[in-house]
Order: sequence, then structure tokens, then C-alpha cells
Amino acid sequence: MKRLSVFLAAVLCGAAAVAGTEGESVPRVVPLLDRASRMPGSLFHSTEEKVGLKSSYPSAINVVLLSYKDGRCALIDTGFGPGLQRELAERKIPCGSISAVFITHIHPDHVGGLVAEDGRPAFPKAKIYVARREYEAWQRDPRRAALGKCFEPCRERIVLFDFDKALENWGLLPLLYPGHTPGHTVFKIAGKEAYFVGDIVHAVDLQVPHPGYCAKYDMEPARAVASRRELLMRGGVWYGSHIPFPGCVRISRAPDGTFRAVPVN
Ligand SMILES: [Zn+2]
Repeated sequence: MKRLSVFLAAVLCGAAAVAGTEGESVPRVVPLLDRASRMPGSLFHSTEEKVGLKSSYPSAINVVLLSYKDGRCALIDTGFGPGLQRELAERKIPCGSISAVFITHIHPDHVGGLVAEDGRPAFPKAKIYVARREYEAWQRDPRRAALGKCFEPCRERIVLFDFDKALENWGLLPLLYPGHTPGHTVFKIAGKEAYFVGDIVHAVDLQVPHPGYCAKYDMEPARAVASRRELLMRGGVWYGSHIPFPGCVRISRAPDGTFRAVPVN
């Protein structure tokens, strides 16, 4: 039964394939919507650029499902949780078939879904991968202490990783892009120039052409701006936690040097 579930999950994962297909550790990427949202313009500020802000910008809370040729399934982030659970149920993907969850950073809209509403682990067989730097910064941060409830039920399954070293056979390379949080992680996805960029942007329409703008959620705005600019220089395809669903854009650069985000569906 378990094998059948995993096989079913893999087939379903494949139905919405986006990323590459070669090699066992090259995942297919399936965006899942935890919650649609808009970000108010009043959330954004810049010390170096001034443009007319809109009253709000389209946004979302997204998760991606990674599926592998050998049947493994994993997630990057979990959203708050209820929307993700609905998405998985609709695709008939059992939570027990998720064998890894990769965390970009420790905020409630990224780790909230690690626990079910009854307080039990939402993904009982998954290893939970978190950057050591982010985990240790979180442990020292009293403002984020309440999020311990998300990690407590799966404490013995937490795997702390360092940056710039591929994560086993998961086809992910974790890269440090700090500023939103001290250990904010971008995952480069094997097979293509594709990245899961976490909270590098909260309003893609504003912050790609004007990367000097930060949301008030960025803990260290100057570092967040530097990280955003550095990642924009890489270009490629971005899957973002807060890019309007399906949460995927291609970054391009205009002749005048400004960047644009073109939706990929
Ligand atoms: Zn977020």
C-alpha cells in the first residue's frame, strides 16, 4: 500500500512537471498554493529609491513539491499549513510519503505547516532540513521563540546543514542570502538555472524592478537589499514563497540594466 501511495504521488507529481528530468536527483517542481494574499504598499520602504507605491501588490504563500524519478517526494517550506494539506489531499499525496522538508527560514508562514492542527507532526516520516545558521539565530531570538511549537514534535528528525554544499541526493544546493533573516536560504534546484528564493521578494512587481525596496518583515534591510541584488544578477527562474501563484517567474535584464520578472506558467 505504501509503495502504491508513493508511486501514485510520483505520477501525480509528474503531471505538472516544470523542472528538468535527467538524473535521479533532479526533481520535478510542482507549485502548491497555501494561501492567496496581497501585500499592502504601506509595507514597503526604501532608503535609496522613491517610486509611487500602489495601495497593494498581488502576492501569495506558496510551497513547492519536489518529486523524484525513484518515487521520493519532498517539500520546500510548508506555508501556514491548512492550504498545503488541502493541496496534497486533492492530489492524493499522503503526508507520510513526504520524506524531506527543506526550510528557507523560520517564520510562521514557512514552518507553521510542520504541525497539524492537533499539534502532531504533519509529515511524520520527513527529515526537516534547516540551515545551521538560521536555526542557531532563531534559538537566540526571543521574538521567534513561539515557533518552537513547530519544531518540538519533530525535533529528532531535524537535520542542520551548512551552505554551498549539495544536500545528499536531493538535487538542492543551499545558498546563503541573508537579510530577511540571518540564515535566509535560497535553494538552487539541480538541472536548470532555477532557484527557490524564499522571501527574497514579497511583492515581485515592485521589488524586481526596484530591489532597493524592503518589506518591513526584513530583519536587516540593507543586507536584504544586497541579497536581492546579488540574486537578481544570477537571473534564471525563480520560485518564490510570495510570488503570485503559481509563484514562478523568469528574471530578465533590460538594456538599461533594470530587471524584470516574467511569469512562467
Ligand atoms: Zn514569508
